[in-house]
Amino acid sequence: MTTFETDVKDIIKLLDNSSPEDAELITRAYDFAKKAHEGYTRYSGEPYFIHVFETAKILAEIQMGASTIAAGLLHDVIEDTNVTAEQIEQEFGKEILFLVQGVTKLGKLRYHGRDRYIESLRKLFVAMSQDIRVLIIKLCDRLHNMRTLEFVPKHKQLRIATETMKVYAQLAYRLGIRKISRDLEDLAFQYIEPEHYKEALKIVKQKNKEANERLDKFRKSVQKALVKEGLTTAKTDYRIKHLHSFYRKLERKEFDADKMYDILALRVYVPTPTDCYKALGILHGIWRPLPGRIKDYIAFPKPNGYRSLHTTIFTGDGSIVEVQIRTPEMHKEAEYGIASHAMYKSGFQEEKSEDKNLLWIKSLLPSMLHLNNSTEHGKVADVPNWIKDMAELQASAHKDEFDHNMSADFFQKRLFVFTPKGDVVDLPIGSTPVDFAYAIHSDIGNHLFSAKIGGKMVALDTKLQNGDIVDIQTKERAKPSTKWLDIARTSMAKKRIKDALEKNPSPKINPRIK
Ligand code: MN
Repeated sequence: MTTFETDVKDIIKLLDNSSPEDAELITRAYDFAKKAHEGYTRYSGEPYFIHVFETAKILAEIQMGASTIAAGLLHDVIEDTNVTAEQIEQEFGKEILFLVQGVTKLGKLRYHGRDRYIESLRKLFVAMSQDIRVLIIKLCDRLHNMRTLEFVPKHKQLRIATETMKVYAQLAYRLGIRKISRDLEDLAFQYIEPEHYKEALKIVKQKNKEANERLDKFRKSVQKALVKEGLTTAKTDYRIKHLHSFYRKLERKEFDADKMYDILALRVYVPTPTDCYKALGILHGIWRPLPGRIKDYIAFPKPNGYRSLHTTIFTGDGSIVEVQIRTPEMHKEAEYGIASHAMYKSGFQEEKSEDKNLLWIKSLLPSMLHLNNSTEHGKVADVPNWIKDMAELQASAHKDEFDHNMSADFFQKRLFVFTPKGDVVDLPIGSTPVDFAYAIHSDIGNHLFSAKIGGKMVALDTKLQNGDIVDIQTKERAKPSTKWLDIARTSMAKKRIKDALEKNPSPKINPRIK
């Protein structure tokens, strides 16, 4: 018989440091949520409260502040219980209400299986979350939902897993929260490609068994060498590659696992960046490095902020192993990414926490949201325009304008509208149904006949509003007219209209020809 014992201490003890005030706030939120969710259960048969409790534990694991953890405990009360926004504000104040409402709003966004709209959806996620903590709570919420996905009806599993892979894991990755992105990826992988998942699991297990003993000997020699050269506080351990990234890499190596040197990687932790270079020197002095595999991500961090030195060395007993050298601080950033900069200890008023929020807004966010360039995923992608836009807005904005509202400005310059099926399309402010039609597909644009917004017929020059649901009707005989050039706001639509007009000019009456 399973019992569902929970204890608020299990959350608090995960925090590296917490004040009595933090513990008090978390306990209050814990009691409130427990009472609010009483009597509700999940698909698994567990009390509903287990879900918010586990979500709060993940938040504590990544060292989020007490307000964020409290909001994590309360994140489903407005949506799923009788508790009102007023009650939350009364009990916990504006800040926590803001976070809870933000998470509730994000919960409404859905991926509908059409990749064409995926970047707009990710963008809307970031824009709507308005505060990085909202996004982080949502990621932890999804992580726990993925851990319990087996209990969800089969027909929903694939959609949720795909959404997790394409939206949530991707955002967590871009924000540098690898601790969460890797788990989300592996959990989703299991449902999306079950056969490949099993295959990856089998190979990794096998490799681990082969390598374990040999590598542990090597780890001890490394440890000894570092201490001998004066790095007396050096620590070492292993990292095992996660299954999804392992499988994707295996595909690229034509399924030759022997070509992969980083299934198991040795990690070395030393106190300062200078020590990192020193450690690298010590290792290279003893073991021969594989040419072309030395990477200095300290001098040249990855776009998501990742820093470490990487090298691959011959261990002397016939094997080759990747070594990653970093400081504890770099490690924390590598695991928690943006979350390590968003650790609010208390309310908005605290000068320090506000500065931290500004720091990530101004410098980290734009670079962290880059697509996968120079990552293991092997794809080099351009920085999407919306991130450039956001970076520009952020660079030009004044401190006061920011407040806790990271993207209101960005949000106001972009328009997010929906197809009748719920896909997100983002357009510049001032766009019309003509822009919308061309954004969906040039054929839809070229045969646009009429448009409805929220079920009502509208003129083609109607300015779209945030949140509009736009339904386009096409007709085979419908064609673009020169008038559309004035109606369209996006250069993409204008270009398509011009192309269509050139190919198929509308009849003109030339007065000189009689
Ligand atoms: Mn939830």
